[in-house]
Amino acid sequence: MIRGTAADEQIRAVATVTTQTVEDARIRHTASATATAAIGRSLTGAALLGAGLKDGGSVLLRVLGDGPIGAIVAQADAQGRLRGYAVNPQADLPVTPAHKLDVGGLVGKQGTLHVTRDVGLRTPYHGSVPLVSGEIAEDLAAYLVRSEQVPSVVALGVLVGPDLHVIAAGGLCVQALPGASAGVVADLEARALRMPPITQLVANGHTPEQILATALGGWEPAFGEVSRVRFHCGCTRQRVEEMLLTLGRTELEALLAQEGRAEVTCRFCGDRYVLSGNELEGLIAKLRSGTAPLM
Ligand SMILES: [Zn+2]
Repeated sequence: MIRGTAADEQIRAVATVTTQTVEDARIRHTASATATAAIGRSLTGAALLGAGLKDGGSVLLRVLGDGPIGAIVAQADAQGRLRGYAVNPQADLPVTPAHKLDVGGLVGKQGTLHVTRDVGLRTPYHGSVPLVSGEIAEDLAAYLVRSEQVPSVVALGVLVGPDLHVIAAGGLCVQALPGASAGVVADLEARALRMPPITQLVANGHTPEQILATALGGWEPAFGEVSRVRFHCGCTRQRVEEMLLTLGRTELEALLAQEGRAEVTCRFCGDRYVLSGNELEGLIAKLRSGTAPLM
């Protein structure tokens, strides 16, 4: 991922290549072709929104449409770690007459896009907009324009091969900053229409710098640092145990009696944690002796 500015800082932009991240997400969630595109666009969108976050900050994107995929959740942090899931990752639809993955159909056209920015303040900033098309890039641009009042062009793309593996994925966000001239704002939209699809650039081997240069050419761009993005979930066995402890002694004893063990799957990454009967008894003993940490 790379950030840049142009036209005397009237414009800021960020571009990212997320091919491996989206492929990791597809494998972890055994997602269909269309769901891979929907989850991948959401993850890439979260990465773009998360560009420039300070340590400890995070951005959470929730796409709540009325389509068969159900809710999609994607999160990015300041270290470029991305994680996300969809409620029904196996849901799929036939390609559109134009031979495109029907992401809008899978997500649904009725619904809401929610964005939560946690920048370390007491209360995270939260905004939402109705979905425009369910194609996610358009919805994200609408959010940035309406909720954050920043004229923005967003492009998100995921190219999925016939064997389902992700051939290319990436994103670009170009924004006019406060004080930008009307000409610059108008030019943003016109240029966006002339840009080749982001998946074509990524599939042809373009780096984030080259994508940014294509988007900002003629505007004297200045490039910032390159940062790494990747699929990474922060779930650990210890966190799973802490979560189980919050269920309380009665609940855990019932679980032990009925199942003889506990099995927890992380929604974000699909990792499975299994606690044996003995381990479950250990947790119950902690609660009984009062040595469990209080939540
Ligand atoms: Zn996880």
